[in-house]
Amino acid sequence: MKNQRVLVVAAHPDDADFYCGGAVAYWISKGAAVDYVICTDGAIGADSADVVPAELAALRKKEQSDANAALGVRQTVWLDYPDFSLPAGEKLRKDIARQIRRFKPHILATFDPWLRYELHPDHTVAGRETIYARLAARLPLRYPDLNDEGLLSWPVERLLLFKTDNPNTWIDTEDFIETKFNTLKCHASQFKELASDDTVGLSLLKQLSKRHPETGRIAEPFRNIPLEGLEGLMNYISL
Ligand SMILES: [Zn+2]
Repeated sequence: MKNQRVLVVAAHPDDADFYCGGAVAYWISKGAAVDYVICTDGAIGADSADVVPAELAALRKKEQSDANAALGVRQTVWLDYPDFSLPAGEKLRKDIARQIRRFKPHILATFDPWLRYELHPDHTVAGRETIYARLAARLPLRYPDLNDEGLLSWPVERLLLFKTDNPNTWIDTEDFIETKFNTLKCHASQFKELASDDTVGLSLLKQLSKRHPETGRIAEPFRNIPLEGLEGLMNYISL
């Protein structure tokens, strides 16, 4: 993973850390540079009508910044779309494609938009538009105005879909569970149960964590879609 770049595109602050924070810690430990794009401002992620949305959005930016420091994520780009109203379509797709061309990731990670029983519309939209933005970012004749900005086409090598019910790749994250816990604690507005007590919180996170079906170790599941080279070609044929 040395000199590899990973870009994670999520819907809300805390998504990337929650669904693939262990893998991010693993990639960083192997020398990769990881950046995030977060599509919405997270302004309505509260259980009380007394919360002021703009204040919550500002708090969640601070929480994400602290979480990035705990995990070692390089940068987070905020697209600042409204929470729970992430609009599918060309504008969002181009905004994401711009970031793909800018960060030039080898690996692009996002939500699996085909997850059965996904209950949050923003997750589906973020995943689907990121997948389409990846192709748009690769096509040199798409977005000539981005070319003019110096943001040239970029071929992502591998797509990893998280929060999937159809995994074909597991990343062993057992050795990174404490790092993930310390990262999730930063999102105290969202994970009150984790943040209240270290012993209880870490134990709860271990209970919530998925385990590799064969090794039984804590691991994060992904749908791995190779996009380039022979592997990518085979993938196009088999799809
Ligand atoms: Zn979310």
